[in-house]
Amino acid sequence: MIAPDLQTGVDRLRGLVDQAARIVPFTGAGISTECGIPDFRSPGGIWTKMQPIPFDAFVESREMRDESWRRRFAMQDQFGGARPGRGHLALAALYRAGKVPGVITQNIDNLHQASGIAPDNVVELHGNTTYATCLDCAARYELDWVRQRFDAAGGRAPECSTCNGYIKTATISFGQAMPELEMERAQQMALNCDLFLAIGSSLVVWPAAGFPLMAKRNGAALVIINRDPTEFDEFADLVIRDDIGETLSPFISH
Ligand SMILES: [Zn+2]
Repeated sequence: MIAPDLQTGVDRLRGLVDQAARIVPFTGAGISTECGIPDFRSPGGIWTKMQPIPFDAFVESREMRDESWRRRFAMQDQFGGARPGRGHLALAALYRAGKVPGVITQNIDNLHQASGIAPDNVVELHGNTTYATCLDCAARYELDWVRQRFDAAGGRAPECSTCNGYIKTATISFGQAMPELEMERAQQMALNCDLFLAIGSSLVVWPAAGFPLMAKRNGAALVIINRDPTEFDEFADLVIRDDIGETLSPFISH
């Protein structure tokens, strides 16, 4: 059913949460917009104004690597101080209560970890933009380290100090394969829950969008919380088309 109003939606969600033993949240950009992080793919979002740099171009072109890092540091100046929102805090409370074993996210902003969910319990389908790795040897680099060298070299992307490989944010770029381990973990979580919460995702990016139906077909209740309709609404046990922070704030506990 589609909740006729916010209070009815929250009451029904409370009932489903109380009944559930294993709740798996799946989050998209909508949970982070109240933290000041824009939905890059939405109409008017950054990717509709500026072409994203595909993975092939990053690997093939020094100019593209430099440009990629220039954009990343511009983002850091705008969104680097973002803190978890009410949706993140609510999910962290359910995690602490033992109801949520982990979160699957399409977001790359690290805000689930910042809200108190252990990094091992956050399955990031699109990686993480708050640190970088060497594409060859997988060594981890912090953004500050990259920026120091980038600035000192007049805007040139540094290379790995161990193997000279290219250093890239730990995100999955357009044209880059989905991470197999994370996809497998997300599938296991979707198949082993009794309540699946799709939160702030338009559910259009495949293969990630397959998880809600996977959970539903395996017997879980499905709740979709998103401002706009999704093509899976008809399969959901509950649809709340409202603000995510407003909807989830009653579930925050301290
Ligand atoms: Zn390396």
